[in-house]
Parts: sequence; C-alpha cells; structure tokens
Amino acid sequence: MYDIVIIGWGAAGLFCSLSAPKNLRKIILEKNSSLGKKVILSWWERCNVTNIDITPEDDYFGENIKAIHSLLSKFSNYDMIDWVEKHGITTCVEDRGRVILESGKSKDLLDLLVRESTKNGTEIRTRFDITKIEKTNDIFRVHGNDGSIVEGKNLIIATGGKSFSQVGTDGFGYMIAKQFGIEIVDPYRGLCGMVTKEDLSGLSGSTLDLTLSLFDGKKLLYDEKGSFLFTHTGLSGPIVFNAVIAVGEHLRKLGIKESQQKSYFNENITIKLTFNEESMTKKVKSFFELDETKNEVIFHLSDLKSWEEAKVTGGGIKLSELTNVFESKKIEHLYFIGEVLDLTGKTGGFNLQQAWATGYVCGKGFGEN
Ligand SMILES: Cc1cc2nc3c(=O)[nH]c(=O)nc-3n(C[C@H](O)[C@H](O)[C@H](O)COP(=O)(O)OP(=O)(O)OC[C@H]3O[C@@H](n4cnc5c(N)ncnc54)[C@H](O)[C@@H]3O)c2cc1C
Repeated sequence: MYDIVIIGWGAAGLFCSLSAPKNLRKIILEKNSSLGKKVILSWWERCNVTNIDITPEDDYFGENIKAIHSLLSKFSNYDMIDWVEKHGITTCVEDRGRVILESGKSKDLLDLLVRESTKNGTEIRTRFDITKIEKTNDIFRVHGNDGSIVEGKNLIIATGGKSFSQVGTDGFGYMIAKQFGIEIVDPYRGLCGMVTKEDLSGLSGSTLDLTLSLFDGKKLLYDEKGSFLFTHTGLSGPIVFNAVIAVGEHLRKLGIKESQQKSYFNENITIKLTFNEESMTKKVKSFFELDETKNEVIFHLSDLKSWEEAKVTGGGIKLSELTNVFESKKIEHLYFIGEVLDLTGKTGGFNLQQAWATGYVCGKGFGEN
C-alpha cells in the first residue's frame, strides 16, 4: 500500500514526488516507456523552465486567474530558478523573459528531476496502462492491463491535457474527473497556429515583428506585438499562439462548443495585422499593396491548427472544485495538478511554471520531511 500514487510522470507529477515527505511511500505510474517527454521538448529541447517576469492577469487564462497569485506566493518563478541553480544547472534569460538552461539541453534538467525524485524515495513504473481506477473504503485501486493493482491512500492525477497526444496526453484526467463527478471547463486548443480564409501562402516563410489584434465583430479580444510568421496554410509564431488561447477563452465564456467553433470563427472572428517600418518589407508591401497611408491588413479566421499541433490545452478541472493544495472538495484524497487544471499560460515558460508550482504545493501539502 502506497501513501501517494501519482499518475503521470511529467513536470507536475515529478515535482510533486520530490516535494512530498521522504518518509511517505510514493510511486509514479507512467504509461510511456520514457519519462518527461514534454520537459524534453520544451523550447526546441533547450528547456524554457520558467519566465522571469510574470503578470498573472496578462500571462494566464482560466476561470480563476487569482489562484495563480496565491500559487506563485508559495512557489514562484524565482524559487524555480533557485532550485535549478542550487542543483548545479545554470540558467540564462532570453527574449520575452524566457528562462532557458545555459547548456541548451533539456535532458540536464530531466536527469536532475529524476535523480531528486528517486532520492526522495519515489518508485517509478513505466509502461503502466491503466484500465480502471476505483475507490473503496478510502483506498484507491489503480488497475493495470497486466492484471496488477496498485493501491494508495492518496491519488494524484498529473496526466496533462489532451493536446499533443502523440506523446501520451489524451485527456485521461478529464475522464477521471467525470468518473468522480468533478466539474471541468471544456478543454480547448492553445498555442497553435491559425488558418485564414485568405490564401497567404505567397508570403510563406516570412518572419516579422508586428502587432496582431483579434476581434469578434468590433470587439477587441486580444492584441500583442511580437514575432509572427506566415506559413503555407496561415499564421504562426508566439503572438499567434497566445491569441489562440485568447479566442478559446472567449468562446468558452460564450458557451460555444468545440463542434461549433469553426462556423463561429468563419462568421465572426477577424485578425488585424499592423506593420511598422521594419516589418513592411518589399515582399509584404507588394503582396498587400501597402504604402505610407496604409499599414494594416485584415483577415478572417477560418480554423485553428490541429490538436496534435497545439502545445497546451486550455480549460480543464475547475479550480473551484479543489482546495488550495489541489485536493478535490468532493472526493477526499484525490488531487489534480499541472496542465489538467483550468489554468493555462501563454508561451514563454508560464506552463512549466504552473506545473512546477502546483506539483510543489500539492507535495508540500502532505507535510515537511
Ligand atoms: C512541443 C511542446 C513544447 C513546449 N514548450 C514549452 C515551453 O517552452 N515552456 C513551457 O512553459 N511550456 C511548454 N510546453 C508546455 C509544457 O510542456 C506543459 O504545459 C507541461 O509539461 C505540463 O506538465 P504536466 O506534468 O501537467 O503534463 P505532461 O508534461 O503532459 O505530463 C503528463 C504525463 O502523464 C502521462 N499520462 C497521461 N495519461 C496517462 C495514463 N492514463 N496513465 C499513465 N500516464 C499517463 C503522459 O504520458 C505524460 O508523461 C510545451 C509543450 C509542447 C508539447
């Protein structure tokens, strides 16, 4: 019998396992054969650990953004940088406040996390395919497809979202929430490209610094200045990725389901690009017929890139369902941490920071060593 069973060996599950008391019996169950795939993938495998400059209201989306204030007061971006550096890994700050490993190798951080988790007495079982979870007499029983059963007094769901499912995240946490009657905000795609009605393939490959503004009719939903890329099928780059979460949040507030998204986009959502002197290259000028009197163009959003391309999932377990250590208010000893929560960040290290912090706070909730 384990004191703590964690499902999912990603950033959140891992940080929880190394923050929980050493004397508690802990195990992580992971369905993949390798660990922490998204930590490895982060920022082209250079690992964007966190961001140096976090303004919760600007950098996160979800029903309860205030929660990020209290979360960061318990484990901040600076705490994470200190933790990493204390263990001998040097970080540096790049554009947009991204904190990156100086070595440029995310595997360095992953190795450290595994070492510290193991040192803290955590067992790890990979290739564990869960067929069923039940709770009887205050004990959780996690059934594997090999017939084995892992029993625990506390169960922590750290299974991520449902985007980028090629690395193992398929929305499992939402299924568990449903099984136990815990409410979720419908998941939506975040941090992916946009497809426009207009054919912009002639500009494919052009990276520019400009201002993107997103509208529903006349209502401004989002605007940001930054790096932007025209692709064969539409728009990409950090400011586009962020705008995708903003439009997802907007549709969530309007109660529009995913199946209705596409037609809503086509009828209502427009994207305005405002060019400055530098971004008005010869190619752009002639493509859009821009001149001294015209530096803006407007497109129509027809769709978002696929779930497989989305780097995060918006929506998820409602924070109002959880205590301040992420335990379910309805089901005692059941916890949810990381991307599975309705607390999603922009691109720039905000999502990993959420995963470290929720993992830490949950782990510490079991007591100090
Ligand atoms: C390509 C890419 C680049 C990214 N770059 C950045 C970046 O630069 N900065 C940043 O902040 N964020 C980045 N992100 C987002 C960030 O990686 C995630 O938000 C973060 O890793 C979420 O951590 P998590 O522990 O909640 O979930 P995950 O890291 O998704 O881990 C969940 C784990 O649970 C396992 N699992 C799922 N279902 C089951 C099951 N049924 N049984 C057992 N195990 C299960 C999965 O296999 C996975 O290992 C990136 C994401 C992607 C895809």
